[in-house]
Amino acid sequence: MTTPVIELCGVSRGYDGGPPALDDVSLTVRAGEAVAILGPSGSGKSTLLNLIAGLDRPDAGTVTVAGVRVDTLGEAASARFRRATIGMVFQFFNLLDDLTALDNVALPARMAGESRRAAHRRATELLRSLGVDRHADAYPGRLSGGERQRVAVARALINRPALLLADEPTGALDTAAGEAVRDLLTGLNTAGQTVVLVTHDLALARSCTTRTVRLVDGRVAAEGHTAPEAGHTALAEGPVAEGTR
Ligand code: ADP
Repeated sequence: MTTPVIELCGVSRGYDGGPPALDDVSLTVRAGEAVAILGPSGSGKSTLLNLIAGLDRPDAGTVTVAGVRVDTLGEAASARFRRATIGMVFQFFNLLDDLTALDNVALPARMAGESRRAAHRRATELLRSLGVDRHADAYPGRLSGGERQRVAVARALINRPALLLADEPTGALDTAAGEAVRDLLTGLNTAGQTVVLVTHDLALARSCTTRTVRLVDGRVAAEGHTAPEAGHTALAEGPVAEGTR
């Protein structure tokens, strides 16, 4: 058995006045897996992602990422941990508009203490491997959505994170750009990158992950496996039996 990269045990999180956003969720993601978190709007996907990233704390339960109890870290330690261990890709890219593509990608490495030269070298390599090196000196405003997302993926990878978290990474892209980002994520996972993808797009989950976890009303309602088969994938998903979570 490979080491868990993520281990959530009995995690609950509520907000004032409402029903729990997450209710007793347990989840293990092992190194090299690509797992999709599915579920309708309001089912708790963002809450789960924030807890995994250490951006929020559970009311109950434990959250362990790459062997570290992120639910007990203070703010500064949490930020350091996130920078070193987790790469994040968002629906709307979150690139800094006044930095070039190259400087956007290099920034997390610079913040982790790498020299400008080393950070730029690795950023250039990443931009090249993601097919956007010709845009290294461009500002995000001059790039298409698909190009911006490739730059954002490069930025997420620069510190060689144990975990890549992607939150609706194709949600703001047209079909062709979305498919390119999907193939990119699939390729990264094939190369060994552990990926957690939050989406409500079942087709995306099917094509670039090996396992699905469906949330409904803050609980794990179903889990399934996506099996690559002759160039396409099939999804078998079953309900979670009570008491086996
Ligand atoms: P999803 O990402 O699946 O759309 P969320 O995790 O954003 O779901 O939300 C789960 C539930 O928690 C929803 O009922 C939402 O209204 C509530 N919620 C999320 N964030 C907050 C917040 N900061 N304050 C109050 N309620 C929140």
